[in-house]
Amino acid sequence: MKICRYNDNRLGIIAGGDIVSVTPALELLSRHQYPLPVFDPLVTDLGRVRRHIDEIKGRGARMPLEKAKLLSPVANPGKIIAAPVNYQKHLEEVLGDPNLHNDVRINHIQRAGLFLKAASSLVGAGEGVTLRMPERRNDHEVELAVVLGKTASRVHRSRALEYVAGYCVALDITIRGPEERSFRKSPDSYTVLGPWLTTADEVKDPDGLELQLYVNGQARQRANTRDLILDVPALIEFASSFYTLLPGDVIITGTPEGVGPIQAGDVLHASVQHLGAIEVKVDAPDSPTSSALPYP
Ligand code: MN
Repeated sequence: MKICRYNDNRLGIIAGGDIVSVTPALELLSRHQYPLPVFDPLVTDLGRVRRHIDEIKGRGARMPLEKAKLLSPVANPGKIIAAPVNYQKHLEEVLGDPNLHNDVRINHIQRAGLFLKAASSLVGAGEGVTLRMPERRNDHEVELAVVLGKTASRVHRSRALEYVAGYCVALDITIRGPEERSFRKSPDSYTVLGPWLTTADEVKDPDGLELQLYVNGQARQRANTRDLILDVPALIEFASSFYTLLPGDVIITGTPEGVGPIQAGDVLHASVQHLGAIEVKVDAPDSPTSSALPYP
């Protein structure tokens, strides 16, 4: 099943080139009181929600996909966990480029560990990327995103895929520079997830998916997730050995070679095999950037 959020917090499934509204299924979600949970209620209740969707989808209003504004398929992830350099060719690319490699933390992933992006950086494909510091170099990174479906702690890789709710295409937008990764990668809109959540039953092997990214129609990144240094089960094992993963937590698995700069006015087209494609506009900041943050 391909489940999307769109327009004003509507819920839909993808059928051909259409979105079929199944918004009433949101009424099934468990109600939560303060203090609110740090997991995503829709992903937590996904089994029940899917059964209800199957009952009501025949009555849902249809609209053409291209008329919808797609939101992030996961609204409330507790954590966005990100893999640093996780493709061998990208590691070589980073080590060979002084623009990219002014960071002593560039290292093999097993030594570098994982990092977190602010949940407030998350948007859907229809919301676009708004550059925060256009005077700095901002780069695109296309990645496979894994959405956890169950609480997972110290999971062995042999069972890791049992904990996955589904997969998405992700963009990990990055300001280059000397600061901590999580700082440079967490401005609003710097994590794009979409176009929808493809449930795990539709993806037999997450470690054999083609992914690609175009900027204004020009190919920039093309790779296959079989070349991940830590594959999806190994990433879940690694992450869950350090912290408990909760339903709705997102793991973005790292980007392959070909990262490059983006500018206001660009249109990014990113796709992962079986998961669909996102088209994302890059906008200038809404208001002039303060120069309060000095950067040599
Ligand atoms: Mn990345």
